[in-house]
This record gives sequence, structure tokens and C-alpha cells, in this order.
Amino acid sequence: MITTDGPTAPLTAANRCDLCESKATTRAVLWSGGQLVFCDPHLRQYRPRLFPLTRRFEAR
Ligand SMILES: [Zn+2]
Repeated sequence: MITTDGPTAPLTAANRCDLCESKATTRAVLWSGGQLVFCDPHLRQYRPRLFPLTRRFEAR
């Protein structure tokens, strides 16, 4: 997990999900300043819990 709150670089094919080794497709930028990246299955799984914590979702 990255904790800086600067401008975010675009996700690339090199970005991996924080929870598995799949390609990351979406970054969640949190109100806390942290960031998490997810593959599609994990995004679907965690989005309901992430929603109140997330300032914005950035899709690749
Ligand atoms: Zn994943």
C-alpha cells in the first residue's frame, strides 16, 4: 500500500492486484491518502466495504 497523496500514475500492465498476482484494473484512492489496486474479482468483492473509504476509483 502506497501512502503518498500526490498525483497518481496511470495503472499499467505491470501493476498487480494488492491481494493476488492478477493484473490490477482499478485503483482506489482513499480519503486517508492511501491507495489500493485491485483486479476485477477483488474489486467486486471489496467494493461495498471500500466505498465509504474511497475518494475515487481510477480504472485503467
Ligand atoms: Zn486480486
